[in-house]
Amino acid sequence: MFTLVYGLGESGISATQALVRENERVRVADAGDDDCLQRTLRELGVEGVLGAGPEILKEADRVVVSPGIRPRDPVLRAAEERGVPIISEVGLGLEMLGGRVRVAAVTGTNGKTTVVDMLRRMLGGVPHAVAGNSWRALTGCLDEVREAGLLVLEVSSFQLHYLERPGFDVAALLNARPDHLNWHASFGEYARDKLRVFEGQGPEDLALVSARDPVGLGAAAELATEVLVVGEGDTAVRGGRLSLRGREIAAEAELRFAGTHNLENALFAGAAAQRLGASFESIRAGLLGYRLKPHRLEIVAERAGVLYVDDSKATNPAAVAAALNSFEEPVVLILGGSEKETDFAEILPHLARCRAIVCQGEAGPGIFAYLRGSGDVCRLVADLREAVAEAASLAREGDVVLLSPGCASFDQFAGYAERGEEFAQLVAEIAEVRR
Ligand code: ADP
Repeated sequence: MFTLVYGLGESGISATQALVRENERVRVADAGDDDCLQRTLRELGVEGVLGAGPEILKEADRVVVSPGIRPRDPVLRAAEERGVPIISEVGLGLEMLGGRVRVAAVTGTNGKTTVVDMLRRMLGGVPHAVAGNSWRALTGCLDEVREAGLLVLEVSSFQLHYLERPGFDVAALLNARPDHLNWHASFGEYARDKLRVFEGQGPEDLALVSARDPVGLGAAAELATEVLVVGEGDTAVRGGRLSLRGREIAAEAELRFAGTHNLENALFAGAAAQRLGASFESIRAGLLGYRLKPHRLEIVAERAGVLYVDDSKATNPAAVAAALNSFEEPVVLILGGSEKETDFAEILPHLARCRAIVCQGEAGPGIFAYLRGSGDVCRLVADLREAVAEAASLAREGDVVLLSPGCASFDQFAGYAERGEEFAQLVAEIAEVRR
């Protein structure tokens, strides 16, 4: 078997090293060519081509592809035309594990990282290893996964696109809302990719879907496995109490995190943990101690009676809607970032909570043009620095200034974390100036 690893990011490097360890024939390639890639290639010490085009497919029996590469990339298109199988790095990892471990997979437009993080804390003493998407590359920790016997896997739609019938023991689809439509051909294709998480599951496996998600719910009736719908029946939040298969695991008031969507995330994690062997006590303890990861509805300051909240990780409108629903107070919302030609219709029903909206960044003018007729106070500024100053001047005592941009950050920052840190810094500077 001669494998071409295409895309020399973290997952491509890890896949190559795993193949070399197994003494497989491997060639690496990347469409780009710069100092960093050249160094990576030298360090890997395998045959490789940078600035690569379809000619690199020569002799390849299959292609292992990085999640960042779009299906319409010329090399992938050529591979499809020639019938050369394409698998994701996660697919390669699962193949190397050979079905000898249990796998719980979590996918969805929003909440994957949070659910995986909650799940690993709820598992307590149940041995497991965590990998995929926002965690480490699966092919880089195969020995650890084998030893644990249980893999908790975060999978994106990109990774699912090139995954054939994975047959997960537990598969959770949290939600499927418009996002990444610059990668997928259409929402229909995106939703189909998300649903692949259930492919290959049998009657002894467990599928988790949300009562609020039409995509998951629509597919549930067709699944040949046990399905648990989170948010209805005996697994739901009622009167501020979280109930898992009829048993109360916690009251909302006991938790150290906010947001209705996070209560649903907790039920997904709890249902998965229970199926994987965690005790009731361990699930409850994991939940009670849980704090959200940074840049997800994170309170960064309270100044002059105004709460400043960093939700920089909200990179699509569905996440903004969830954030807006998490506050009772009037909100001054900061939107905008890099342009993905996103449709912001999804946030319209939630704008009643907004005192004002400040649009910024590359996508700012488009969002401003779309929202200015909505009846809300709407302002357009150049960048995040100006947006924080504008939001602070619009906010009144008792308000929330919420950075929940609904866009990626690459117009001004290296990533969502840098954007969130800059937000906190700007808030601190404003307080200084006022003093
Ligand atoms: P992902 O790993 O899927 O990007 P995260 O847990 O990192 O998800 O959260 C990303 C953003 O989505 C955050 O702004 C968070 O508040 C929001 N979010 C988390 N869970 C949900 C959910 N179930 N529904 C809608 N938005 C959510």
